[in-house]
Amino acid sequence: LTSFPYNQVLVLGLAKSGEAAAKLLNSSGVSVRVNDQKPFSENPQAQSLYNEGIEVVTGGHPLSVLDGIDYVVKNPGIPYTNPIIETAVERGVPVVTEIELAYMLHEGQIVAITGSNGKTTTTTLVYEMLSNSKKPVALAGNIGKVSCEVAQKTSPEETMVMELSSFQLLGTETFKPDVSVFLNLYEAHLDYHKTMEHYGQSKAKIFANQTSQDYAVYNADHQEVCKLVQQTKAQTIPFSLISKQPDGIWTDGTSIYYKDAFIIKQNEILLEGDHNLENTMAAIAASLLAGATVEGIREVLTTFTGVEHRLQYVKDVKGRRFFNDSKATNILAAQKALNAFSEPTIWLAGGLDRGQSFEELDPSMEHVKAMVVFGETGEKLRDFGTKNGIETILMVDNVKQAAEEAYRISAEQDVILLSPACASWDQYKTFEERGNMFVRAVHTLE
Ligand code: ADP
Repeated sequence: LTSFPYNQVLVLGLAKSGEAAAKLLNSSGVSVRVNDQKPFSENPQAQSLYNEGIEVVTGGHPLSVLDGIDYVVKNPGIPYTNPIIETAVERGVPVVTEIELAYMLHEGQIVAITGSNGKTTTTTLVYEMLSNSKKPVALAGNIGKVSCEVAQKTSPEETMVMELSSFQLLGTETFKPDVSVFLNLYEAHLDYHKTMEHYGQSKAKIFANQTSQDYAVYNADHQEVCKLVQQTKAQTIPFSLISKQPDGIWTDGTSIYYKDAFIIKQNEILLEGDHNLENTMAAIAASLLAGATVEGIREVLTTFTGVEHRLQYVKDVKGRRFFNDSKATNILAAQKALNAFSEPTIWLAGGLDRGQSFEELDPSMEHVKAMVVFGETGEKLRDFGTKNGIETILMVDNVKQAAEEAYRISAEQDVILLSPACASWDQYKTFEERGNMFVRAVHTLE
């Protein structure tokens, strides 16, 4: 960080991003104080920073940590109702997330992607499309890469492709992407944001500093998104599944076009589902604007089988296509997955019981020919299936057995879909662990 205009920074909340921010600031010669709730003896990150000579306050959040501070970098999860944040804001001290530091560091182009759903998929697609077009590119943000750490290693020729959450965006001041993407806005995170208005406005900070040299790619089919995009000064590029967009990206139901130019036939795209078509269109527009070639884009779309655990195509075993959608930890996600297919489907579902009912999925059950259920919600799902006239419903102990049993009762042309509609924590530490077990089991089938 050269010419950082503040003298004494408080890093509030450690975890990976706080640790990286503290190290970065310290190595740039800025005076840093770190404050974390966890006691020092149980806090290896605080210990490591202390050993580097950084001032560390642990075991609570006393207001005195703000003494002398003129800039606060906070963990995105810390709410603005935290007394330290409230006091800093009252004093006019900037409160940011490490995204802001990444922006100060990175000299090259930035593509930033936000939305309630589809961020990881779209971010990955943009990254792949640019790298397939031989553009130097780096992945950062919510996708598991601390942005300020990534930005320390990028060159000015590199495009940084960033996945950003509402929490991260809320803590930005000068951040300005050359290309922003706003995918959609669904009800979420209201424990943190309290109102949909606040949630939407937090995400809309992606537009705040854009100028007429920049671009904003947005979902023209979502009324709320259309309203929010009016805040940008950037050139707006709409994408739509349902109407022609002469100034943006659209489909005639068979092929995708960017303005007047044909890009690709839909049946050449491997990703399944309308929701992924939206992500694909957003990614095509964003990557074209960032310098990708149509050839580079086509190559990705005809080979990319999905981000792991997100309606990821696993394998064809004797004419049965297996999909891993372990990330579908709620009803909405499972609905998207079930609706993505018209083939006879064997649906594998179950997991943590949060008292949910599955009725919303009634209309998605038409092409489900059998179910294999597991976990705490197994019985509930069996009753739901029975009510929907599904004759074959098997109850198994885990997703490995589910894969094997599904295969045993399947026929050629079937889709075998793990889309649990439930969180994994009754049986698995993470949805990744659940998805990996399923994928491994599928690879043993013959
Ligand atoms: P995020 O990073 O925003 O959580 P992901 O790309 O990881 O999004 O996708 C998570 C889940 O969200 C998917 O499994 C799918 O069920 C759903 N989803 C993905 N894209 C969209 C979209 N464009 N609209 C609605 N739902 C989507």
